[in-house]
Amino acid sequence: MPMHGFFRQLGSRLLNKILYSKMNKFFYILFCSLLLSFHSCDFSCENCGGDGYLECENCESDGKIECKECEGEGKKECDDCYGEGKKECDDCYGDGELSCSNCNGTGRIDDYSDRDELCYECNGSGSISCRDCYSSGEVKCDLCYGIGMIKCDECYGSGEIECEDCEGEGKIECKECDGASE
Ligand SMILES: [Zn+2]
Ligand SMILES: [Zn+2]
Ligand SMILES: [Zn+2]
Ligand SMILES: [Zn+2]
Ligand SMILES: [Zn+2]
Ligand SMILES: [Zn+2]
Repeated sequence: MPMHGFFRQLGSRLLNKILYSKMNKFFYILFCSLLLSFHSCDFSCENCGGDGYLECENCESDGKIECKECEGEGKKECDDCYGEGKKECDDCYGDGELSCSNCNGTGRIDDYSDRDELCYECNGSGSISCRDCYSSGEVKCDLCYGIGMIKCDECYGSGEIECEDCEGEGKIECKECDGASE
């Protein structure tokens, strides 16, 4: 850059600072054009430096911020099993066995003779093992498939959500110049 160009630009910058804050744009341009040549005047917006946009501070221009719901993990503890991955069996309430329906839990069947017969279903024990949980009393959690964690529904598992301040753009329109800085 030639020396006189440098000084001219410096002059125009100083002029900007003094004039732009005190006058509306029309008078600013008029004054500036009179004092310096029109082309050396810097009409760009002071607030955004002429970009028309400001960086979004909320998301550091990323457009996205960490999901607070899952702290950026994308997944969270399963509500249904509290992260255990398994739940008490609904069928046997955790007992692992059920009352035998054949003998109503008595272990014996009235065969209309004088003496009762042992129930063949439960071999006289009155209870049968629960098929739902294989007698363990616990079943795998349906919601998390036994993992104990589920996808965060707030961020759909990505761990990030769109920045509300800039609507995901990463930048915010300059209010001083309505994003239309020359
Ligand atoms: Zn601006
Ligand atoms: Zn999330
Ligand atoms: Zn679960
Ligand atoms: Zn039985
Ligand atoms: Zn069971
Ligand atoms: Zn943002």
